[in-house]
Amino acid sequence: MIARRRSPAAIFDALCGTGPAGAPRVWFDRAVVLGGSVAGLLAARVLADHAREVVVFEPDRAAAPDGSRSGAPHSNQLHVLQPGGRSQLDRWFPGFAGQAAAEGAVLVEPSARTRYRNGRRRVAGAPVESLSLTRPFLEDLLRRRTSALPNVTFAGHRAAGLEATGAAVTGVRCAGPDAETVEPADFVVDAMGRSSRLGDWLERAGWEAAPVRRMPIRINYATALFRRAEPDPPTKTALALRGALDGSEAAGAAFAAVEGDRWMALLAGFVDHRPGRTADDFVRRCRDEYPPEFGHVVSGEMLGPVANFHLAESRRRDYHAVRRLPAGVVSVGDAVASFNPIYAQGLSSAALHAACLSAYLRSDDVRAPARGFFARQRIVVDAAWGFSTRADLALPHIDGPYPRGYRATRWISRRIVDAAQVDPVVARRFDEVTFMQRHPSTLVTPGILLRSLRNTP
Ligand SMILES: Cc1cc2nc3c(=O)[nH]c(=O)nc-3n(C[C@H](O)[C@H](O)[C@H](O)COP(=O)(O)OP(=O)(O)OC[C@H]3O[C@@H](n4cnc5c(N)ncnc54)[C@H](O)[C@@H]3O)c2cc1C
Repeated sequence: MIARRRSPAAIFDALCGTGPAGAPRVWFDRAVVLGGSVAGLLAARVLADHAREVVVFEPDRAAAPDGSRSGAPHSNQLHVLQPGGRSQLDRWFPGFAGQAAAEGAVLVEPSARTRYRNGRRRVAGAPVESLSLTRPFLEDLLRRRTSALPNVTFAGHRAAGLEATGAAVTGVRCAGPDAETVEPADFVVDAMGRSSRLGDWLERAGWEAAPVRRMPIRINYATALFRRAEPDPPTKTALALRGALDGSEAAGAAFAAVEGDRWMALLAGFVDHRPGRTADDFVRRCRDEYPPEFGHVVSGEMLGPVANFHLAESRRRDYHAVRRLPAGVVSVGDAVASFNPIYAQGLSSAALHAACLSAYLRSDDVRAPARGFFARQRIVVDAAWGFSTRADLALPHIDGPYPRGYRATRWISRRIVDAAQVDPVVARRFDEVTFMQRHPSTLVTPGILLRSLRNTP
């Protein structure tokens, strides 16, 4: 069970651990994971220590040439893997980052990472190496590593419902060409992404759906690839944020050196601000509206068209608040919470959900509803949700709901963000939180607050 006396920060710290998970403890004959994307693959890896057989149901076959696929249409957009997520990948698949780099992904030393806010360059932050790669490349390697586990297999089933006997899940209903079939399972992981129907299935079977919280972010993404001539450029990733904390509809821009000697560049805006709808507009804005490094990146040959994506809202499903839940089912990744992508939290959150699953399966009674899992996961979701929605609440098109004490926390957040621009100590702690290596409450210690008040430019 999760120890009640430990603070969320202490539990978050423990979940971020990268040591070996401990001896496997086999509970299940057949565990089924619904969805074979990032969250599902990591859950399958964890379950391989706790089930005789793990089957991943993923109906999507392969990505389109542009990197997108119907089950995850956003896959071709720029995805930044935070160091917190990277270390979890290395924890579950030893040598993952090294293998990715050997196959073409780019290791980014701290000095090759730059950050701008409203055009001003930020001081250096946490001295942590990161891994830069496209989302399809990440998923492909993750799937290969998962497939290599002796007790994990894949099936092309599309899940359509749950079967439960008494108080526990016993199987998954799958859509077939003529009729539904039932696949047996004594543990089921919902990793079906934002459009997961688990809540409907639970309600239909007489249980309860999770309450949903939403925040209408209305963000527009445009991503394009460019040829990269330098194998080892001095700046390998950059993020230039505008707006969010200053009440504008411009979100910002980013670029990353990725596998295949390419740059991936991103422009983002809110509501009616849709930068980069055409190739010309994309290149012009990167060149004219952002620091010179952005102009350099888009000076190479553009590879393929600009890919656009609109995300209407951040959304979370509060399974920790559900009273009637069968045993043998959990939900992970975007199926539980998906955030404004500009903060790049989704992949690392999914990785930490895998850590929650491992902690739960190693210490709790799995014959009861998975409350210990959802209690741990809530700490991860609260951390990411609080961080991103607090920043988004400052946007002009968002009108709440404002949490209690919002004015005071916004005032303090602004001081910390301003200080992180100029004070390396605050910048480092700020990075550790955005990298998903430390809990956000570690930003409001007396030391950081004092520096923030002193150093506000
Ligand atoms: C534009 C954009 C940019 C982003 N950028 C970043 C970033 O920079 N950094 C970051 O960390 N995160 C980013 N994210 C978030 C990240 O993409 C998600 O957090 C991540 O995709 C979550 O993975 P997942 O496995 O939970 O869900 P998904 O990737 O959505 O996968 C769900 C899977 O479930 C399968 N599925 C669906 N229905 C069924 C069914 N009935 N039966 C079986 N399988 C099913 C689908 O085929 C799919 O493979 C971004 C998101 C968006 C939208």
